[in-house]
Amino acid sequence: MIEDKDPQKTDLEKLGEFGLIDHLTKNFSITQKSTVKGIGDDAAVLNFERQQTILSTDLLVEGVHFDLSYMPLKHLGYKAVIVNLSDVYAMNARPTQITVSLAVSNRFPLEALEELYAGIQQACKIYNVDLIGGDTTSSKTGMLLSITAIGEAVEKDIVYRKGTKPNDLLVVSGDLGGAYMGLQVLEREKEVFKVNPNNQPDLEPYSYIVERQLKPEARKDIVELLEKLEVHPTAMIDISDGLSSEILHLCKNSQIGCNLFEDKIPLDPTVISACEEFKIDSTLVALSGGEDYELLFTIDQDDYDKIKGNPNLSVIGHMTDANEGTNLITRSDTKIPLTAQGWSSFRSSD
Ligand code: ADP
Ligand code: MG
Repeated sequence: MIEDKDPQKTDLEKLGEFGLIDHLTKNFSITQKSTVKGIGDDAAVLNFERQQTILSTDLLVEGVHFDLSYMPLKHLGYKAVIVNLSDVYAMNARPTQITVSLAVSNRFPLEALEELYAGIQQACKIYNVDLIGGDTTSSKTGMLLSITAIGEAVEKDIVYRKGTKPNDLLVVSGDLGGAYMGLQVLEREKEVFKVNPNNQPDLEPYSYIVERQLKPEARKDIVELLEKLEVHPTAMIDISDGLSSEILHLCKNSQIGCNLFEDKIPLDPTVISACEEFKIDSTLVALSGGEDYELLFTIDQDDYDKIKGNPNLSVIGHMTDANEGTNLITRSDTKIPLTAQGWSSFRSSD
């Protein structure tokens, strides 16, 4: 699908490992005060003084976590950074550095890795994090990409998955299900392309959801907003696997229950129309779709007035005693237990 009219291809072996690392990282600059030494020694050196250090790693495997037939390498680099930064924000912390480890086969020319690093660099710039190291090695099969994000926070500001209590309000940022529906569109176009490679897909009507899949953002703005509003969430998690499983994580970690209201789940109109087209229930998509990288958190009822009416935040439910279970309250006011896969009776919707 991604056509390259005049591809220049430089063999990686021409540069050697050190030349390659130098070439890929030479345009990155260091902006964080806590970075004492970045790339170029045996290890990086950081100094967080009185702050706590937050650390999160993800490993992405070609064919398992990403498909290069519709994922441009620049987007892959960007997204791989974002998913890690999202984990740091979900601790109510501020990301400061990343490391990037990469295994590639000689199927990838230098130009492909330049694209990958262009995406990584863009994310570093927008989110103001330093690339401080990594590792590079060869792979006999696909590409492997592992990113570690490091961040900082004052101890009292850190928010864990544990800490929510009955009657706390359940709040989510943004809207849900877009990334999953974007993936459905891309998968469909990939099949069309296999049959007829000359067919140029018109993705314009789906631009929002395709972007949610290919170029997600981490909710730095929400962490900043909560600080400004002086709201300290009692528990928080980012939505990587789907609303349902993240709610269950919060409930399990705090040993409590929850009522989630179906009619409160925020959905973009383009998600609703794509769900109609694909004949998938939009609630199921929000519950089980995943990859939205929105923040899900709980707040004390006393903080409700501070967030009320904010267009970036939706109150979608409240926490209960553990013995009340974890439930979805449907539009028709029926109580259905939440499962990690979503609402099972949705699955055969047609
Ligand atoms: P070592 O042999 O000690 O592992 P390397 O030669 O792999 O050291 O790395 C040299 C420097 O380049 C280190 O600072 C390392 O963190 C950095 N580096 C290596 N690979 C990458 C990469 N893919 N992206 C960013 N920095 C990297
Ligand atoms: Mg190394």
